[in-house]
Amino acid sequence: MAGDTSAITDIARLLVESRYAVVFTGAGVSTESGIPDFRGPQGLWKKIDPDVFSIGYFMSNPEEVWRLFIKLFLEIPRVEPNRAHRAIARLEEIGVVKAVITQNVDGLHQRAGSKNVIELHGDLRYAVCLNCRGKIDLEKVLEEFKQKGGTPRCPQCGGLLKPNVVFFGEPLPFVALERAYEEAGRADVILAVGSSLTVMPAANIPFYAKQNGAKLVIINMEPTALDYIADIVARGRAGDILSSILEEVERMMG
Ligand code: NAD
Repeated sequence: MAGDTSAITDIARLLVESRYAVVFTGAGVSTESGIPDFRGPQGLWKKIDPDVFSIGYFMSNPEEVWRLFIKLFLEIPRVEPNRAHRAIARLEEIGVVKAVITQNVDGLHQRAGSKNVIELHGDLRYAVCLNCRGKIDLEKVLEEFKQKGGTPRCPQCGGLLKPNVVFFGEPLPFVALERAYEEAGRADVILAVGSSLTVMPAANIPFYAKQNGAKLVIINMEPTALDYIADIVARGRAGDILSSILEEVERMMG
């Protein structure tokens, strides 16, 4: 068993005894698939100025941001879900986990088999028109951008297209946020995995669940902003820890 054995047993017991367990994930759940996080030791912000992904910068320099976005995220469709995504999907399949709320845009939870996934920061499936709000397959936009270059424009109205991910300075998608709060409010256990828990307002969600009486479990490689209110903290790699938790849950459930 990886990590702290007693923490793993305690987390497994909490899950088995839970009525409504919810998982909240951040970029750290996908690093073992080869996608860098933002704030970890190998994080993207060590190399790139985060202001580039602000809505203000994008509006003034759309072509430059599109180019960078493509360079950073184009490989993601070829990246595979890892043991952490698979363990979370299996926990949903056996009825323990009811929902996954993710800050990630990589779609790896769904590809691992998770069904009830709420994406707080958008996705890599679409580009969105900032004028008519129409959505266009991201792949089509990328193809055209690679062939012709220039600023991607909406085929319907000619408006500026933006990747369908939330940039700094933009509000979170209303429906996703509302669903996330609903799930967090129902939770009696919430597992926060691979998130520094500093990006607001998303990081408010585990906090809200805890305030509503849920047990808060934090699984992360480094200390997080909410460790001080957590019921259990398991420090280490999400893939190792979640695989061990799943093993223990399946053993306890017979
Ligand atoms: P973050 O970069 O702020 O924090 C990630 C945390 O995960 C760090 O504390 C790091 O120590 C930890 N971590 C890294 N690898 C881990 C592992 N294998 N096991 C356990 N913990 C590990 O990420 P965040 O809190 O999600 O906030 C960053 C924002 O960036 C999010 O809003 C998200 O939308 C976005 N983002 C998404 C992706 C993606 O879709 N995969 C990638 C990078 C950033």
